[in-house]
Amino acid sequence: MSVANPGAGPARGRASTEERLTPLGVYVHFPWCLKKCPYCDFWSIPSDRQGLPHDAYAAALIAELERRAGQLEGRRLASVFFGGGTPSLWQPEALGRVLSHIMKHFATEAALEVTVECNPSSFDRDRGRALVDVGVDRVSIGVQSLDAERLAFLGRLHDADGGLCAVSDAIAAGVPRVSADLIFGVHGQSPSDAAAEVRRIAELGPEHVSAYALTVEPGTEFGRRARQRSLPLCPDDAVAESFIAVDETLVALGYEHYEISNFARPGGRSRHNVGYWLGREYLGLGVAAWGTVRVDDERVRYRNTLSVERYLGADWQSVDLTRPGGVVLEREPIDAETALRERLLLGLRLAEGLDLGAAAQELGVEPWPDERRRATARLVARGRLEQVGNVLRIPKNAWLFADGTISELM
Ligand code: SF4
Repeated sequence: MSVANPGAGPARGRASTEERLTPLGVYVHFPWCLKKCPYCDFWSIPSDRQGLPHDAYAAALIAELERRAGQLEGRRLASVFFGGGTPSLWQPEALGRVLSHIMKHFATEAALEVTVECNPSSFDRDRGRALVDVGVDRVSIGVQSLDAERLAFLGRLHDADGGLCAVSDAIAAGVPRVSADLIFGVHGQSPSDAAAEVRRIAELGPEHVSAYALTVEPGTEFGRRARQRSLPLCPDDAVAESFIAVDETLVALGYEHYEISNFARPGGRSRHNVGYWLGREYLGLGVAAWGTVRVDDERVRYRNTLSVERYLGADWQSVDLTRPGGVVLEREPIDAETALRERLLLGLRLAEGLDLGAAAQELGVEPWPDERRRATARLVARGRLEQVGNVLRIPKNAWLFADGTISELM
């Protein structure tokens, strides 16, 4: 969309064409990391840099794109997110090749957002410049902590200076939009430690900060240690106090707390993730990638194979993408009731909440079955939820209880 002359005829015509198209996010999974972190339940495979099939993986992704994109006419590309794994290990030229093929397949929004997740151990100023050169405008850096002991506990390969340098390098390299990830609620961390760490990061100038409480996932090394009762944990009340300390620190520095775990300076929200929270379609590409798209009037969720060998060896011209087996691990239709429950689950994480009436109308289902009406009244009376017409939102002082609130509404 032209921004140079937005009032001119052709630009107006194009804008209205764009408005008729459905926004689409594309998620590309890069499944390798240098080492597996003990808390992480994303699909990632430890590998050294030399062993990575940079070009072969790009070629397979492009072949998958060619097959899947044909089913997605009438979309406009709103965001591309390279996640993982550690996509900053990937040669930028190979990543750029995939990006340019994605952009060729869809009408592209003027405000297209292209994000790459980066680890401090595989990111520096040169890598930042190279990513910008191939069309990336946003990096999300996994800083996680600025304390040597906690970084070691989390199994991270970088030290505190490495995290700070990665953020500064991204800004100095001219990456237009920089985000930093932090983990709080780690054993031994006080709420004032959490506040101090997030302040140091914010003062470097990233436009976006994601701050997650450490969660122990069952399929991880931390999950195994927790079952054996050998994992030191932070008490729940200290985690809650850290959540509040992080919020107060970042809000005082001018960030908007726009989603339970996410903060942005004005205009700096992650458009890709906002798309997830609003229930938009996203095309998933790559090993272990999830996608949710509407195909032939049916909303489907799929997940690709977890096997790199199977993915790289697939005959993409003939492979069957409509049922599990081959390169598809799972595929299921999402009915309208399930889609509405997912909208609640994700939309209530946003500060603005969710227009339940609009979502239900779009999906063609009843927004207010008796049970949900009663649950809403109970939650409003307890201060856990606010209702204005059909809009539901969780007030910020009740975000700590969001999981329970959302499950009562489901
Ligand atoms: S680097 Fe990131 S994706 Fe890889 S194992 Fe660690 S947390 Fe998971």
